[in-house]
Amino acid sequence: MANITLKEIAHSYTGESENPDDFALKRLDLTWRDGGAYALLGPSGCGKTTLLNIISGLLIPTRGQILFNDQDVTRLSTEQRNIAQIFQFPVIYDTMTVFENLAFPLKNRGRSKKEIEPRVIALAQMLGLENSLHTKAQHLTADLKQKISLGRGLIRQSVNAILFDEPLTVIDPQMKWELRSQLKHLHKKFGFTMIYVTHDQTEALTFADEVVVMYEGKIVQVGTPEELFEKPAHTFVGYFIGSPGMNIVPCELQGRTALVKGQSIDLGTSYASPTSKNVKLGVRPEHLSLNPPGEEGLPVRIVKVDDIGRHKIVKVALDDAIFNVIMPEVAAMTGDMGSLVMSSDHVNIYVDENRVTGGTL
Ligand code: ADP
Ligand code: MG
Repeated sequence: MANITLKEIAHSYTGESENPDDFALKRLDLTWRDGGAYALLGPSGCGKTTLLNIISGLLIPTRGQILFNDQDVTRLSTEQRNIAQIFQFPVIYDTMTVFENLAFPLKNRGRSKKEIEPRVIALAQMLGLENSLHTKAQHLTADLKQKISLGRGLIRQSVNAILFDEPLTVIDPQMKWELRSQLKHLHKKFGFTMIYVTHDQTEALTFADEVVVMYEGKIVQVGTPEELFEKPAHTFVGYFIGSPGMNIVPCELQGRTALVKGQSIDLGTSYASPTSKNVKLGVRPEHLSLNPPGEEGLPVRIVKVDDIGRHKIVKVALDDAIFNVIMPEVAAMTGDMGSLVMSSDHVNIYVDENRVTGGTL
């Protein structure tokens, strides 16, 4: 097993080009630690599959190198890289039985029947395929077929990494949860490097120790679920993670004060004056609260209250800047005005969509 390093990787499907717009992947540098459980998260079309295929060797990048430890593998095949990849839709042999499909990657490498059999049976049990072992794959439903695909990816114990490309798309929701926890369990047990691609934040946050967030062909943040939540490095991460996402509103900086619609918000620390006009303040709905009108806070109008069971989501307006506030069940709202309270510890400042930190003035 190995650390996987992407060095100045960029990819254009139309070949080398001067035009940055031609690149589905912009330049990126990243190391995936040996044994890490990673999620690669981002909206459809942002370049997740492209990146995964470059790691596995299905695609040779237009620019840059891939290193396994210090070895340059940029031009090696998936087989030579010793990587298992599981795709969005099942890739199996229809005319083979479930047993034969699962055994294939081992048989192909000349392993003995004595080694193969117990491993196939154990894996089939884990995936809930034990009752179909001798059924031909073509007679199975789409989700059972996808479980075979997962099994084929997981059967070998000596791989450099296992890459999953939205593998649970065709699996029903209850089973999804089960399979995801099985994968996590397998990761703990065997310590494979796993990279799990998804556009679903819940899947990413529950599976991974570290999440790589992509947006428009770039990596915008690598962090633990907590870092993505508390300190989104890019406004996109703030908006994409969380339900609802981070409130992001234009502001002006004046030392340790942010002005939003003419109202002052204390930032606790002083910020240098940015040259760009694109300055925003971001704060999560979980970190806001409402006082009755007249009490401490910014004067806001209550636009809407959504009761979503565990808590309420209150939409408020400061002039025309909208904030979502997550409130506990107990809070009873009267009237249509309130005072919005935010603590400076949880306020993030963005210049040109990237998070900046204040000084200690
Ligand atoms: P994701 O997996 O995040 O949905 P992809 O990596 O599949 O994103 O796609 C990234 C971008 O590259 C998209 O704009 C997509 O249209 C383009 N793209 C993907 N595959 C090809 C291809 N084989 N040829 C040309 N363009 C492609
Ligand atoms: Mg994809």
